[in-house]
Amino acid sequence: MKDYVIRALDKEKTIRMFIATTTNLVEKARKTHNTSAVCTAALGRTLTATGIMGFMLKGDKDKISMQIRGDGSIKTILAVSNSHGKVKGYVGNPLVELPTRDGKLDVGKAVGKNGRIIVIKDLGLKEPYIGQSKLVSGEIAEDLTHYFAISDQQPSAVALGVLIEKDLSVRASGGYILQVLPNISEEALTKLENTLQNIEPVSQLIDKGYTPEDILDKVFGEFKMEVKEKLSISLECDCSKKRIEQALISLGEEELKNIIKEDGNAEVSCHFCNTKYQFDKEDILQIL
Ligand SMILES: [Zn+2]
Repeated sequence: MKDYVIRALDKEKTIRMFIATTTNLVEKARKTHNTSAVCTAALGRTLTATGIMGFMLKGDKDKISMQIRGDGSIKTILAVSNSHGKVKGYVGNPLVELPTRDGKLDVGKAVGKNGRIIVIKDLGLKEPYIGQSKLVSGEIAEDLTHYFAISDQQPSAVALGVLIEKDLSVRASGGYILQVLPNISEEALTKLENTLQNIEPVSQLIDKGYTPEDILDKVFGEFKMEVKEKLSISLECDCSKKRIEQALISLGEEELKNIIKEDGNAEVSCHFCNTKYQFDKEDILQIL
């Protein structure tokens, strides 16, 4: 199944839902960063959420980045998405290994529950929009549900899941963000809460071969939502030597002069895709 995300809405415009399947994208991220199982799950959940939130953006050039900074050994998780389904991300420490908890990868412990989730939206305005909230569990979906409530005053249900094979490859990955709009009836809300309480983990649904449309029809069928839009998503980096140059510039004049004095050249790799860029003495002099 190819990776994509759908946006759906019910007739009464009371429930909005975004559902994504991201198995290939997360497997590509795992290979890029050589992540351990628990790191693949944490990064995969974050990439899936960020990809969905990129799809929520309206403008052609809009971008969103999500940072999850907990006190766990994974350190920071960073993911970025544009509004066209191009997603990238990395974790601070990709090699964290932890014992499973109740047979599940312990993402909450790897991330840590003391910390913040920070969302930055670049909507082409003078200043980016920055929203943040405290982490609740470090499991990411719960943290994001809390974020939507605190930062956007938007009641939401978020599910994110990554299933991993014994050989560490990604077996299934996906997620959804469901948002309740203000005009929803008490009755529909109760029904929705019931459905959400009984739903299978989203990674299991994807593993059973469910497409996002299947999840909409088979799990949320009684709400009669209609697919309004669909977008392919993939893991892609937009780095270039020009962009990496900015990182060198930010080191400052002193440091750049030191580099020339010491080895005369520098190798800088992109955190998102690990592409290495070489800068020789002439390049650095040019930057100076
Ligand atoms: Zn890159």
